[in-house]
This record gives sequence, C-alpha cells and structure tokens, in this order.
Amino acid sequence: MKQGSGKYVIRNGLIIDGTGADPIPDGVVLVDDGVITFAGTAAEAPEVDPAATAIDANRGTILPGLVEAHFHPTYFNVRELQDLDIKYPVEYVTMLASVNARLVLECGYTAARSGGSLFNVDVWMKKAIENDLIPGPRFAASGREICGAAGLMDWNPDFRKIGMEGLVLCINGSDEARAAVRTLVKDGVEWVKTYPTGDAAAPNVNDHHTLCMTYEEMEAVVTTAHNHGVKVTGHCRATEGIKNALRAGYDAIEHGTFMDDEALELLLERDVPVVPALQFEFASIQYGPELGMPRSVVDGHQETLDGGAESARRILEAGGRLGMGGDYGFAWTPHGTYAQELTFFVNYVGFSVVDTIKCATKTGAEIMGRGDEFGTLEAGKLADVLVVDGDVHRDIRLLEDRMNLIAVMQGGIVKAGALAEYQQVALGGVGREY
Ligand SMILES: [Zn+2]
Repeated sequence: MKQGSGKYVIRNGLIIDGTGADPIPDGVVLVDDGVITFAGTAAEAPEVDPAATAIDANRGTILPGLVEAHFHPTYFNVRELQDLDIKYPVEYVTMLASVNARLVLECGYTAARSGGSLFNVDVWMKKAIENDLIPGPRFAASGREICGAAGLMDWNPDFRKIGMEGLVLCINGSDEARAAVRTLVKDGVEWVKTYPTGDAAAPNVNDHHTLCMTYEEMEAVVTTAHNHGVKVTGHCRATEGIKNALRAGYDAIEHGTFMDDEALELLLERDVPVVPALQFEFASIQYGPELGMPRSVVDGHQETLDGGAESARRILEAGGRLGMGGDYGFAWTPHGTYAQELTFFVNYVGFSVVDTIKCATKTGAEIMGRGDEFGTLEAGKLADVLVVDGDVHRDIRLLEDRMNLIAVMQGGIVKAGALAEYQQVALGGVGREY
C-alpha cells in the first residue's frame, strides 16, 4: 500500500488517541510522509511547516482509524445460512467483496481482520488493496473456515448434494483437521477460523450450547497452524468450547459468550483477545421476528446477548482485551453499519467511549499483530487517522454516519470523507506487477 508524501497538520479537534488515555482538548496531529510525528495539545506542538496541508477538525474529534476485527467481505445481506454459500456464484461474490472493502474504508475503518470468506476471495482482495488497485482496509485474511462435520456450518442435508467447499472445510478427526489447515496455509491465509461451537442462529441442532469440534481436532489445528506461523481463532459460544480453545492454544476468541470463572482465568493467563460482536445479537432480536426468524432462535439470541454482554464487561474489568467487530453483512446488520457496534458497547453494555475506542483501534491493531504499526495516535505510527465533525466523546453515534467524516486518512493519504483526495491511478505502467 502506497504511503502518502508531504506534511499535514490536523488541528482544532478533541484527540482520543486510542491508548485509553483521557481525551486531549484542542489537539494537533502532525503527519510527515505518511507517518505521525506528533499528537498532543496545540500548546505543546512543535512549529508547523507553513507548507503543510492543514485539515481543520472543526472543533470535532481526531482519532485513530478504526479496526473492524471480525469482517466478512463476502457476506452480503444474508437472510439465512444458505445465503452464505449458494446464493451467488464466486465471480459475483468477488465483486461484492471489493465493494465492501471500499465501503468499510469509507466508514472510517482503515484496517480489518477477516472472520472468514467464501473460497479464497479475501486473500486476493488483500493483494488488490495492498497493490492500490482497489481502496480498502489494511487487511488480515482468513479464507475458508473449518468446522467439524455435522457442526454449525455443515447444515445442508446430504440429499441436496451441495458441496460446501466454498465456505467451509468440514473435518472428521485430527488428520482431516491438519489436512484442512495445510490447504489454508497453501491458500495464503493469516488466520485460521474454526467453529468449536454452534450458535443460536443454527437452523438445526447446533445451538449456542453445542460443541462442533473435538478438543483433539482443535489442538491439531493449532499445532499445524502455528508450525506455519498462522494464527487460529474460533467461533466460541458454549463455555466448554471456549475452554477447549484456550487450552488448545487459540490466539483469539470470537464471541466468548458464556464464560465462567475458569474460562476467564484461562483467557487472562495468555491475554487472549476476544471479539464479542454483540450488535448482531441485538439486531437479530430486533428484526428477527419480522424477517421470519423462529421464536426459539430469537430467544437464543437474547440468551447470547445477555451472556455475551456480561462476559465482555467481566473481561474489560479484569484487564483483558476486546476487539470491536461485528459479523456485518446480514440482512439485519448490513455492510456500512459497522460503527453501530461501538454505539452498542457504549449505550447497552456500558463501556466508556474512551475504552470502546481503544478496543476499536489499539486492540484491533494488536489482534492483527500490527500494534506497533498503527492503532493509536502516537509519533512513529502510520498516519491512519479519522477526523470527525462533532464531539465523539459526547456522542459515539456520530461515527455511524459517513457524512460526519471530514477525513479518513490511511498512511497519510486522505482516502475518504468530505476531503477525500484519493484517485484511482493504479492501473497501467510498464512492467507493473499486480
Ligand atoms: Zn463471523
């Protein structure tokens, strides 16, 4: 990804720097060749080069670019699980993914980590973004997911004779778990996404208290993935599934819904981050009935929401790490509404705005393994900066509306927001490789 050149001064805004520190009134951020050189009060700022391009935050807010920590680029207004796999051919899904990549950046998310993708679309989507062929977030790819046979993601009855190979690698036993990871390693993924447990959304027997992989399968996944330098995460709702994942050496937990004391202890022991994705549950309860969701499924989402919110509060209080990301791409959580996750954590779960933004920036970057490169407004970090018209500290909902974004800066280039200067000039050029 090309880095910007030249100097910028972003001023006249409240800085929320992503570290969890108190906001800084009348803040200034200086950027030089795509890197932050200063972030602090106007009074302490070094002298500004008169040639620097000025961005006026209009007494709004200056914060790090957001990180969507559980992003499904190939989900597109999914109504039922079948839509994930067989609604569109891979050719169309690939185009939708590139639209979603652009959209998430336009919503202020300068980085994202995949929560799984159809075929190997997100690995190649990342390549297109990194080569500046399409705008999108800095990315960590997962490709296809792994699930035990007959588990959550293996819902199609056999008589349909539909292969699930585009969405998930269904495994039976440790040998097949290893084989699946090796396939994904060859595909070029950075994260292996697995399904240790079921979900309230399951249309069959795999509800949120069901286990969908054995401990032995999970351990085989971790050993093989780690051998190749690839990280492992998993969809974990049931308590025993969370513990299995933590004991097997998982690098992150998606959802972490029903955590007892022992699970929390295991989590904190290795400081494993969790991405709860709770707005999805809230929206499922809100819109599920009118979209034809069975009562039992809606009730399951309520139980999941209550359990997940409680676990998130306990993890934060105990000093654990949480990422903000939310399974967007369903009919009731469409792409483009990503920042509703942050609002939900402030207004429903009870997190402070500062903590929520830390989760959505610094921790997100750490989950991606890139915490030293971006995620906070500190000298030496890449200039991934969000400039918002309005006081986000007072009203987190401002982030939900793209029209409030003055600038979405990625690597020192304003790529979205009212001041966007990004031009697609990537194509062409002798000997250019992409
Ligand atoms: Zn997901």
